[in-house]
Amino acid sequence: MDDLSRVDRDPNAAESGSVHEGDQPRSAAVLAGQLRRAFVAGELTAYFQPQYDLKTGRVVAVEALCRWQHPQDGLLLPGRFIDIAEQYGLIADLGRYMLEESGRQIADWNKRGVSMSVSINVSPSELTPEFAASVLGRLRELDLPRGAVTVEIIESPEILYSDEEFTTLNALIDGGVGVSIDDFGTGSTSLELVRRLPLTEVKIDKSLVQDGSAEVDALVRECLAIARDRGAHVVAEGIETREHFDRAVGWGCDRAQGYFFSPPLPVAEVEPLLSESAA
Ligand code: C2E
Ligand code: CA
Ligand code: CA
Repeated sequence: MDDLSRVDRDPNAAESGSVHEGDQPRSAAVLAGQLRRAFVAGELTAYFQPQYDLKTGRVVAVEALCRWQHPQDGLLLPGRFIDIAEQYGLIADLGRYMLEESGRQIADWNKRGVSMSVSINVSPSELTPEFAASVLGRLRELDLPRGAVTVEIIESPEILYSDEEFTTLNALIDGGVGVSIDDFGTGSTSLELVRRLPLTEVKIDKSLVQDGSAEVDALVRECLAIARDRGAHVVAEGIETREHFDRAVGWGCDRAQGYFFSPPLPVAEVEPLLSESAA
């Protein structure tokens, strides 16, 4: 195993955001300049984390997570550069890059008989009608089937009040792209979002999966009931232990994702897990 994957395999390192900080503190402006060049230099890459169907035990989807192979600092996790990308107007470039990488990867797997779908993370600021049109256009060019791509959006209360975002989400769903509410349970409007937002999936945040309280249990069960009513499936994320796994099964979640199964991995390392699953 190389140094790159080891960062992801250590849950504490993966979450701390302080790995490979480098010796020199770097200003946000400098890092933004380096990020701009990183697209051209080919330093960005997509890692993929499998999602397991809890009924069949098979990998049915992967979540694409961005990594930056920084020339001085080594492998950087998104915690180091997503906010900077937002601040310096680079988030749309990052989104296009991840769509391209993930779309082509899924098309390649499908061609090789591995039927798989991919989830990509999208910032609320990217949710414009132009974004929906460009995603749908690129998926058509790649000849991907309906359901091959899902966009994950994090909870942000403003979405509830924005016609443009509703229109965008509906356009994506009509065009065969899944819409997932990421990090369910971390905000104050979680249930309201699940009730009202155009969606096909809800992802229960790891903080809920890892909390055994009766209060969380009631919240997740209510979320599941609404999701079922709306025909959306439910993914539990951050499954690290057998106990978390059992909790996700007990709730009746459809899919699960987490270090218990596999960390996010580069293409070459995730492929064996997918073919095992397709066999
Ligand atoms: P997220 O979308 O909630 O992604 C899940 C994060 O949890 C990932 O961190 C993943 O490595 C980590 N994780 C997976 N399994 C486990 C587990 O069992 N336990 C724990 N504690 N953590 C687990 P990562 O890759 O560092 O990404 C952090 C966040 O950065 C993501 O959170 C997402 O919001 C954002 N992000 C990642 N890639 C992109 C991207 O391409 N575009 C945008 N806009 N955001 C991205
Ligand atoms: Ca996500
Ligand atoms: Ca999440």
